[in-house]
Amino acid sequence: MLLKKIRLRTLLILHSVGGVILATFLLLGSLLIFQKANIEDSLLESNIAYARKLAETIDGFLGTAQRELAWSASQIKGLTDLNRLRSETDRLRLHPGFFNSVFVVNREGVIEATSPESLSFVGVKLHSDASRQAIATQKSFITAPFTSAAGNYVVFLSQPLFTADGRYLGFIGGTIYLKKQSMLSDIMSQHFNSRNASVSVVSNDGLIIFSQDPARVGTKMRLNPSLKKQLSSTDSGRFSTKSEGQAFTIGYASLHKTDWNIFIAGASETVRHILVSTAKNALWFLLAIIVLTVAVVTLLAGRIAAPLEKLAGMVQRDGIDASLASVEAWYYEADRLKQAVEEHRQVVADRMSTLSDEAMTDPLTGLCNRRGFTLLAERCANDAGQCVIAIDIDHFKKINDSYGHDAGDSVLVRLAGLLQQACRNGDVVSRFGGEEFILLLPQTHLEDAARMAERIRALVINTTFRHAGAITVSAGVAALADCGGKRDRMLRRADEALYEAKGAGRNTVIIAGTESFRRYDPTA
Ligand code: GH3
Ligand code: MG
Ligand code: MG
Repeated sequence: MLLKKIRLRTLLILHSVGGVILATFLLLGSLLIFQKANIEDSLLESNIAYARKLAETIDGFLGTAQRELAWSASQIKGLTDLNRLRSETDRLRLHPGFFNSVFVVNREGVIEATSPESLSFVGVKLHSDASRQAIATQKSFITAPFTSAAGNYVVFLSQPLFTADGRYLGFIGGTIYLKKQSMLSDIMSQHFNSRNASVSVVSNDGLIIFSQDPARVGTKMRLNPSLKKQLSSTDSGRFSTKSEGQAFTIGYASLHKTDWNIFIAGASETVRHILVSTAKNALWFLLAIIVLTVAVVTLLAGRIAAPLEKLAGMVQRDGIDASLASVEAWYYEADRLKQAVEEHRQVVADRMSTLSDEAMTDPLTGLCNRRGFTLLAERCANDAGQCVIAIDIDHFKKINDSYGHDAGDSVLVRLAGLLQQACRNGDVVSRFGGEEFILLLPQTHLEDAARMAERIRALVINTTFRHAGAITVSAGVAALADCGGKRDRMLRRADEALYEAKGAGRNTVIIAGTESFRRYDPTA
């Protein structure tokens, strides 16, 4: 169950990386929202500027065309010299190249000369509105677009012809193709592809003079009255319109020579394209930031998680030991935890040692008990030259009976002190129970052990015990070497020797041999 819980390191990484990614995308989103409005606005501004430029160019073109027409009109003094008329119309059509066809028409509306000649309209009377308007006004003007007798959608420019004395002769006019190739249609269409915007030329009353979509040329756009007013009264600006359910904001500029306007609709595709490319560029940049952040965060998460991971590992394995020092608790919480674990470890260790001390110590005398003896004896398990002495107080029951249990206790405590005093460092002094004591003497010959037992016996007999006065002890001595290296057997043999001592009248030291027993003889 515990193992299935998510790790701190993973949590930190997920948290930080998730936060960075979320923030990144929120940032990118808001950037795109604000950018969209900016891009649309600047696109519109640039569309208006471009419309103005295009209007100026077309105005310039029409002005130059009118001037060329006026110059030709000034060269024509009369309509009688057909050759001269023909050469002038040809020159006007071919030399500046503004017009697709040129006509000289007399005051009756009959064509006197044309260029190109193949049109063969000479002698034909014109009934068109343009012709009637030219004759009626006797002024220079530019017509609205119309479909010519030859079937071409054109715009017509006319210039009146006067004799030197001011008599009206007719007019010279030139047509310019709006759908087919002409200098004007080239000007209007030249930037379509590079601008990626919809450009059209529309008259004040909505007639489409030029459009990117040739099918729309000659058709009418529905313009509301306020827009018509706006178009006729301003040079440039913007307006919103709807087409096929989509809203467009159109930038426009008006021509001065005619009532035409250049409409440029910023393609929403363009805005989307700019936004997408901005988003793409930003995304690469943000991806780089994310990768960098992930690397830094992973490193940092590792540094943050490391001390807690180590502590958790130690606690889980129950192996809180000296390696706690290897935990680098470099921040407050980890340091507190480390201290807490350290303190906990100390408490546990103290309690363990107290418990083990209690378990191995005889509470009355402070000597180790049978369990303590076993543990300490284990430490010298490899010592083949060890001996034991079993010591028992003679007639101890009588002491208890005569002086009370407390007096018996104090005898036990005093005797324990005497035994410790008599022993060397490294000897194990223990109370096995009752009034029986066992001494383990490492690296000791049997004879030396017997001598020591004798020294103790003599020491006890020469000591005056509180309440009890003089007491005696009996002792049994055995060597490991005589017991086949078996500690249990050595203890049993010492006990048997002690029993022999009791049998021999007490206050005696008996040595256990391999098979038999002998009394210790200090004189031997
Ligand atoms: P022996 O010379 O044969 O050893 O006789 P003894 O009286 O010393 O031996 P016995 O085994 O008959 O009696 C031992 C007594 O030791 C019995 C018991 O009440 C007493 N005793 C055992 N443990 C303690 C103790 O912790 N305190 C006191 N005061 N007496 C104890
Ligand atoms: Mg006894
Ligand atoms: Mg006894």
